[in-house]
Amino acid sequence: MAEKRDYYEVLEVSKDANEDELKKSFRSLARKYHPDKNPDDSDAEHLFKEVQEAYAVLSNPEQRRQYDMFGHDSPSGSPFGPGGFQGVNINLDDLFGGGFESVFSGIFGGGRSSRGRRGNDVMLRHSITLENVFDEAEIEISAKLSTSCESCDGTGAQTPEDLQRCSTCGGQGRIMQQVRVGPFVQQMVSDCPDCSGVGNTIRKRCTTCRGTGSARREQNLRITIPRGAEDGLRLRHRGKGEPIANGQSGDLYIQLDLEPHAWFERDGPDLIMALPLGYPEMMLGTQVELPHIDGKSLVIEVPAGAKPSETLLVPGRGMPHRRGRGRGDVTILLKLHVPDKFNKSMRSTLEAMRPSFGLPISDIEDAVRREAQDRRN
Ligand SMILES: [Zn+2]
Ligand SMILES: [Zn+2]
Repeated sequence: MAEKRDYYEVLEVSKDANEDELKKSFRSLARKYHPDKNPDDSDAEHLFKEVQEAYAVLSNPEQRRQYDMFGHDSPSGSPFGPGGFQGVNINLDDLFGGGFESVFSGIFGGGRSSRGRRGNDVMLRHSITLENVFDEAEIEISAKLSTSCESCDGTGAQTPEDLQRCSTCGGQGRIMQQVRVGPFVQQMVSDCPDCSGVGNTIRKRCTTCRGTGSARREQNLRITIPRGAEDGLRLRHRGKGEPIANGQSGDLYIQLDLEPHAWFERDGPDLIMALPLGYPEMMLGTQVELPHIDGKSLVIEVPAGAKPSETLLVPGRGMPHRRGRGRGDVTILLKLHVPDKFNKSMRSTLEAMRPSFGLPISDIEDAVRREAQDRRN
């Protein structure tokens, strides 16, 4: 058998490491070598056990003093008794807080916490318009949702007498088990196999819900849509999800699906739209008025000599900022509207315009050059 490594070496700390240093090092090494993170790795498993054993000894002042004096050859034998290291009762919650549970859950039992049963979460999707999210709005939606069965009060039993406390778990829904994990013995809490964690057994099932304890019912929900809500935002309604017998109902999520606006595209708080204008409007300038999401009309001043693909900005008339005050802007992209068909009189009007507004073909090379220059600037 390989020689037992020095505990300080195992924990990668110096001989005079204090309690905090020990704990810190143990924590990081235990995470590193944890079987969940190293499946089917016997080296990691060995190191994991070594780390736990070393910490068990060094974190105990009396055992540490003995170890410091005699090393592994303590005259009083192994600190763990004649059988050697059998397991260690490390209070992981003290050591790591709640966050460590997920890492250790695989080995110490998924049900270590006794948080209890919880119903499923439910998600509803709700379509809204840009106008709906312009201000904070309270709206009512109705949906078919699971709720507790009214006939049996969610118990699933025909009468209260038909509900019997589970004898296996004494109505707790959970049982404690001693589980051996490698050399360690851990207490593990798990759902009672006889009542599936409900805590009761049912003699005669409720005929309305057939024992499930829940019923689907049309329900009205008041929801508050936050100002400036973005597409896909999920609003959570705690405890409004699926109920579960002898447990906590799940949560209800309402996902907001923003319907596309007739002409606006949204970019965070900013709105973008294209505005088609005829040639005379571009040349001479004009004023355009459109209904707007804020209830007041949006007045767009197009200056004389405007050009297609130029943009105009109407500041402060976009969507409200999600946080803080103020609103985004409206950006307007100008497009040249060209009629699909020309009649005779339109054609002659255009021909008449050619000398004054047309670009003479003789100047085309200069024009192309200028265009390229403008693009570069
Ligand atoms: Zn039970
Ligand atoms: Zn029922």
